[in-house]
Amino acid sequence: VRTLENLNFDNSYTRLPEYFYQRIDPSPLESAHLISINPQVAHLLDLDPATLDSDSLAHYFGGHANLPGAESIAMKYTGHQFGVYNPDLGDGRGLLLGEVVSHSGERWDLHLKGAGRTAYSRSGDGRAVLRSSIREYLAGEAMHGLGIPTTRGLCLVGSKEQVFREQIEHCATLLRVSRCHIRFGHFEHFFYRGRPDDLKRLADYCIDRYFVAAKCADNPYLAMYQEIVARTARLVALWQSYGFVHGVLNTDNMSILGESFDYGPYTFMDSYQPAYISNHTDQQGRYAFNQQPGIVHWNLSCLAQALLPLIPRKALEIELEHYPELFEQYYQERMRARLGLLRPQEGDAALINDLCELMSALKIDMTRFLRSLSSYEGSADAQDALFAVVTETPELSRWLERYLCRVEQEAASFPIREKQMQAVNPKYILRNYMAEEAIREAQEGNYKPVNDLLSLLRHPFGEQPDYQVYAGEIPDWAGWISLSCSS
Ligand code: AMP
Ligand code: MG
Ligand code: MG
Repeated sequence: VRTLENLNFDNSYTRLPEYFYQRIDPSPLESAHLISINPQVAHLLDLDPATLDSDSLAHYFGGHANLPGAESIAMKYTGHQFGVYNPDLGDGRGLLLGEVVSHSGERWDLHLKGAGRTAYSRSGDGRAVLRSSIREYLAGEAMHGLGIPTTRGLCLVGSKEQVFREQIEHCATLLRVSRCHIRFGHFEHFFYRGRPDDLKRLADYCIDRYFVAAKCADNPYLAMYQEIVARTARLVALWQSYGFVHGVLNTDNMSILGESFDYGPYTFMDSYQPAYISNHTDQQGRYAFNQQPGIVHWNLSCLAQALLPLIPRKALEIELEHYPELFEQYYQERMRARLGLLRPQEGDAALINDLCELMSALKIDMTRFLRSLSSYEGSADAQDALFAVVTETPELSRWLERYLCRVEQEAASFPIREKQMQAVNPKYILRNYMAEEAIREAQEGNYKPVNDLLSLLRHPFGEQPDYQVYAGEIPDWAGWISLSCSS
């Protein structure tokens, strides 16, 4: 067990050439105070949450001092934002404090988001507001709870400092913990700057750290790309399976490890709407829910382009063409599991597709419906329970009949299927209204709802009687929530 003062840092990224980043200390936040700590993430770093005191956490992660052993840097990257290449990106308000190697040998990046201005801040103030920091903190835990790869947060620090977004808001920091802070845009930077040697250096670094198995391949860079395509396809398939809309899928928000990353105006949809746009500034719907698989394919093509100096074009094209198939495979796999179909059969894809069309036409709440479907065996009681969640229509009844016939062909009998389905169909999910409520309370100085949601979302598949209300109908005002990029 370690303390904040003797974390086991080994900062491999700082051993890359100096122009890969800017060395810079965090800027102290005025009246920094601890809002929340995530004990599970503390354990990842070999910290004992019981021994962590609020003042030290606020001191270090409010930017008043660097942790012993940390060497904070702002990473340089670029990226395509809404389809347009922007060479001027980089960590404009977040710093990689360093990398901690745990006793189990895992290497964790500690990234302080909202740490102040850097060389890449452009006109920005280098800060993050409490609202968006809470949203990112909760999203990480919600994703993790669902078993979807993601960054997470160790702690949230609040402050009296204020900045202007769409209105005046309080600043905060989030200590983000993740295996990886390398984005597609890191590679794009060196490609567009015409620096093949540095591109290679970066790729070698990534292979050493993340894709060790690729070393044995004929072309390790190609093997790395292959792995990135597969992980990314799986990630998007999971998003699509749970109604998650990222909101800003620019290439600088894409982790090469296929983790959900850089949460902004995201949404777990309440009712299933394929064309749902989560970010109200995205008027074209470039990043709408049903656009995600395609746009991520496009993002992977941007990465392929950037890797051209290392990999033959034809080989990259073949990998890229493989993506839709991989996506589909992962998507069908998870959707089948959500329906309790463990032995694939012809017709499953049609059953799934028809369900999605029904959910869309009837504006069905996917989370509540599939949770309820987990306990559906056709009895009158089960029907009543199901139709308490969705309106009964002839189309839906026909689909349910088809579904019952299909599950009868499964090996597992009902109680076993119910358990299996409940393990992939969450009872609780992070809905925008829940985050809004927690944000509103936190802005008034009450941090209990943030902390309550954190523990709720960690176990979304279990019954949590204290939080029953969050499994019920959403409040009327939820439909009025509007999210923007401002953060
Ligand atoms: P994002 O939209 O949060 O993914 O950020 C896009 C780019 O803008 C990144 O290079 C960020 O570091 C930078 N950025 C976002 N907000 C700020 C801010 N308040 N101050 C400085 N840079 C920022
Ligand atoms: Mg430097
Ligand atoms: Mg970003």
